[in-house]
Amino acid sequence: MNATKKRIAVFPGAFDPPTLGHLDIVRRGLTIFDEVVVAVARNPGKAPLFSVEERVALLREATAGLAGVTADTYEGLTVDYVRKLGATAILRGLRTPTDLDFEMQLALTNRAISGTETVFVAAGERFGFISSSLIKEVARLGGDVSSMVPAAVLRGLKEKLG
Ligand code: ADP
Repeated sequence: MNATKKRIAVFPGAFDPPTLGHLDIVRRGLTIFDEVVVAVARNPGKAPLFSVEERVALLREATAGLAGVTADTYEGLTVDYVRKLGATAILRGLRTPTDLDFEMQLALTNRAISGTETVFVAAGERFGFISSSLIKEVARLGGDVSSMVPAAVLRGLKEKLG
């Protein structure tokens, strides 16, 4: 193995919208990997609040100060995207035992079909309760989510939901 090869992690997800919990995982990922690529999955099955392009733009703005982070989008299997980038592993965050159940299945499936490993990072103590879907629900009903999302996302939510 080339010892100077950069270790890249792909952090895949919906990020609809990106939250401070996601950013916390990105920061923690940077302590393990040289680069983290935050990758928004194009999933035709879901009806998102923010388009894929909007989510990538929000991620770029929210991670602008973090060296070694890029935001991108991909279609199809995550493991194919990982292979295309020459990345070392998939990065995922764990909040609860419920996350773990699903994430284990996903990680084992990804490994079975491609040999790609997944690295799990435990959520930060202050961020483990944050979820994109609850943020959308609270924001829709007029609640204050400013402590849970980056400034760009707060602005985006106000534009979308008034
Ligand atoms: P997906 O639909 O792929 O789960 P998400 O955007 O909901 O997409 O989540 C992407 C990743 O970020 C997942 O690994 C999820 O567990 C993790 N994650 C989401 N919210 C948090 C949080 N508050 N703290 C830590 N990890 C989180």
